[in-house]
Amino acid sequence: MSDTPVLDRAKAPRPVPKPGILDIAPYVPGKAKVEGVEHPLKLSANENILGSSPKAREAFASAVDQLHMYPEGRSNILRDAIGARFGLEPERLLFGCGSDEIFQLLNQAFLEPGDNIVQGEYGFGAYAIGARACQAEIRMAREPNYRIDVDEMLKMVDARTRLVFVANPANPTGTWITGSEVRRLHAALPPSVVLVLDGAYDGFISEPDYEDGFAMVREFENVVATRTFSKLHGLAALRVGWAYMPAEMAAAVDRIRLPFNVNIPAQLAGVAALGDVAFEQATLELVETWRPWLTQQIGGLGLDVVPSAANFVLVGFPKTPGKTAADADTFLSSRGLIPRRVAGYGLPDHLRITIGLEEHNRAVVDALADFMKA
Ligand SMILES: *Cc1c(COP(=O)(O)O)cnc(C)c1O
Repeated sequence: MSDTPVLDRAKAPRPVPKPGILDIAPYVPGKAKVEGVEHPLKLSANENILGSSPKAREAFASAVDQLHMYPEGRSNILRDAIGARFGLEPERLLFGCGSDEIFQLLNQAFLEPGDNIVQGEYGFGAYAIGARACQAEIRMAREPNYRIDVDEMLKMVDARTRLVFVANPANPTGTWITGSEVRRLHAALPPSVVLVLDGAYDGFISEPDYEDGFAMVREFENVVATRTFSKLHGLAALRVGWAYMPAEMAAAVDRIRLPFNVNIPAQLAGVAALGDVAFEQATLELVETWRPWLTQQIGGLGLDVVPSAANFVLVGFPKTPGKTAADADTFLSSRGLIPRRVAGYGLPDHLRITIGLEEHNRAVVDALADFMKA
């Protein structure tokens, strides 16, 4: 579980973090700058290329007179708005400083030292950071074809498994699994294991076989569905995420939540964003227009594009010197287009690229064409 040698922490010459903490690789966010390039385009963090809803911006600005006040601690205005919009019972909702905080809270609430979490081998990094901090083991299931495989996940589950994390659609792969696959996974898990369905990219998928997870939360006592305002709603800066879960679980996890974890501008902007369906639709339309185009164009250059159901594409590069993912990163960056390296996710030969506006997408394809020719 931990590589740190066992030592008597009481006799250490200086404070020593508990076992496991120093085994956590610091999170490295996507690059935002390139040396020597002014105003590069950041395509490295799956942010909303359209910005955020004008209504949300207005609501954010309206909060300026309340900066001296503590927020209402349970995010009730957001709770009611989400309950109404999605038909969800308010007492089953939990709010976080981004969905990252929700994952952290679930880990803290369910993991003891020696327990484990199960996720896909290319799973989102945030799950494991919190689990390691709880001195839990991270179990990574193989993902053939960059896709969650139910049987591989189940092979990893044992008596110490407390949480299973599935991002659907997933990041950084962009792949998704069907509702019946999710249900088969769930059916084979012991009822004591929490199945966390991370729906950060839920707004970008419109496949008929996809299931959003809410019905499963109602049907079972061990399913959690999370959502975020960071992607479709373009409010990543404000850090608002939420989860729909069984009421008993919400009541338990809520005990360790920091009292004022969602700030006032974030709550107000979140409510306003939910009321701007036109902005959501514009975002979805943009992604649905350019995702197949990018997939086809980049594929036409002889590169592997993993089929995506999210607002980004994952591109595989050859191992040939001069043509690797690292070389492509340098080349794109020099043209002011910043992709995301995903070596830290076990994908050293891939780059993840956020879908942009038409001119951005064309620039990406032109740059990759020149890169492959060079
Ligand atoms: C972006 C993302 C999130 C959202 O994180 P926030 O903390 O809500 O900004 C969650 N899960 C995955 C897989 C993501 O890519």
